[in-house]
Amino acid sequence: MTRSDPHPEPILDVALVGAGIMSATLGTFLRKLEPGFTIAAFERLAQVGAESSAAWNNAGTGHSGYCELNYTPQAPDGSIDIHKAERVAHQFELSRQFWSAQVESGGLPQPRLFLRSVPHLSFVMGEEDVVFLRSRHAAMVDSPFFHDMEFCDEPSQLLEWIPLVMRGRDDHEPVAATRMQSGTDVNFGALTELLFQHLGRGPNFEVHLASHVVEIERGRDSLWRLCVESLEDGRRRWVKARFVFLGAGGAALSLLEDCDLPEGQGYAGFPVSGQWMRCTNREVIEQHHAKVYGKQAQGSPPMSMPHLDSRVIDGQRELLFGPYAGFNTKFLKHGSYLDLVESLDLHNLRPMLQAGLHNLDLTRYLLGQVLQSKDERMQALKRYFPEAEAADWELQVAGQRVQIIKDVPGKGGTLEFGTEVVAAQDGSLAALLGASPGASTAVAIALEVLERCFQHRYASPAWREVLHQFVPTYKGHTDLDPETIVESRRRTSKVLGLDSERA
Ligand SMILES: Cc1cc2nc3c(=O)[nH]c(=O)nc-3n(C[C@H](O)[C@H](O)[C@H](O)COP(=O)(O)OP(=O)(O)OC[C@H]3O[C@@H](n4cnc5c(N)ncnc54)[C@H](O)[C@@H]3O)c2cc1C
Repeated sequence: MTRSDPHPEPILDVALVGAGIMSATLGTFLRKLEPGFTIAAFERLAQVGAESSAAWNNAGTGHSGYCELNYTPQAPDGSIDIHKAERVAHQFELSRQFWSAQVESGGLPQPRLFLRSVPHLSFVMGEEDVVFLRSRHAAMVDSPFFHDMEFCDEPSQLLEWIPLVMRGRDDHEPVAATRMQSGTDVNFGALTELLFQHLGRGPNFEVHLASHVVEIERGRDSLWRLCVESLEDGRRRWVKARFVFLGAGGAALSLLEDCDLPEGQGYAGFPVSGQWMRCTNREVIEQHHAKVYGKQAQGSPPMSMPHLDSRVIDGQRELLFGPYAGFNTKFLKHGSYLDLVESLDLHNLRPMLQAGLHNLDLTRYLLGQVLQSKDERMQALKRYFPEAEAADWELQVAGQRVQIIKDVPGKGGTLEFGTEVVAAQDGSLAALLGASPGASTAVAIALEVLERCFQHRYASPAWREVLHQFVPTYKGHTDLDPETIVESRRRTSKVLGLDSERA
């Protein structure tokens, strides 16, 4: 169909650009909140959930603030700030509530298809870091989110918790770990597929695969127009939508620039690629049952914290180590090397250059990572698994992250490592930029999009009631009281089968 087609497409209420975990989650909310809405998702790949959300493209950690040491920075006076860890734990609890509601209503089948119980540990080496971990533990156990966190610096006990990490280690080296038994591993790719399958079974919802959104513009009638190219036959058609969500992962930035919104000016993107070492020896894989997170190296970006990580993918236990960061100019793993250059324009060139100059250490670190040999990668792995054999490990390319560069008044171009929802002032479009803490917080992100883009409906009793069914404890941005958290964890563990797995 061309733009002058006498039979234009009907107007969609909602167009979701990209079919990853973010669009799947937002689509599920909107389906329930407004059953009459016509919703379509447009995905350039031949499958949903096949970019960053795919199981091997991310670490599948249900980020809950348990083990990620970068969420608990230490102040110069030695005190530990646990606010970020609590915020992430709260956001993940919302995800667990949402998945529980889906399981209870039949929107998701058995949770084992996408969620498993795996203890989360932080592991440190050297006297200074052991002292840090002990202080961190003392600060965290006072919080109801982490009250059952265990600390251990006793090698014989640690050998029981994490045999691969402890065997072959120098006895004189001080080491310590904290453990949260209630950690999880999530297959976000499988979850995305399951959510889309359920959406596809209902009325007024369509997923268009191999459908690349190549252009977006605003019409005089205030509706958004999306030019969708079929990657099967190359034909283009135009689709109109009242609301657009750019859930296009790394490509959301380029699409946002295309929209010409004042709210989207001044952003640039800095791609950071990732790789894992993947264990191929089943005997070794079966000996590790934990996500063990260490401290990130000096000068490295926060998402490159090393971790030796148990996964369950397609019902099978797996073991990976990484991520090894890297640099290439693509915004998506299945993207183009021209992505970075094509994203530059008059509005973001200065912030991009400023951020580059302010982050020379990061650039050097990434180049160093790109040039690593297998031997050097094995050296990094052996810090966490001293007896690792090179023959048991192969390299696996992970997903691509596009970090946000933002023009901050008074500071210039600033590199950020979080996620940000950029929304049109009239609520007709939202884009999700950045990738951390990522898929674990998809529910919190969807709630933010709903609140900012559907303000009137969001406050209505009808929406409040549905939102209460999805996320019973959600009360906007206020903190949860301790009893509510404990009760919610107990309930969601039961519905999601996490209790019985641990037993
Ligand atoms: C190495 C690595 C490790 C990670 N580890 C974790 C972790 O342990 N825990 C966690 O919670 N998160 C983790 N994340 C982050 C998490 O993977 C992402 O935040 C999440 O998957 C993003 O989901 P999404 O739906 O926004 O994007 P994606 O899953 O990337 O989906 C976007 C979709 O949009 C499509 N698309 C793009 N452009 C267009 C277009 N123009 N037209 C049509 N379709 C388009 C893409 O093909 C893709 O399918 C990790 C990420 C990486 C890279």
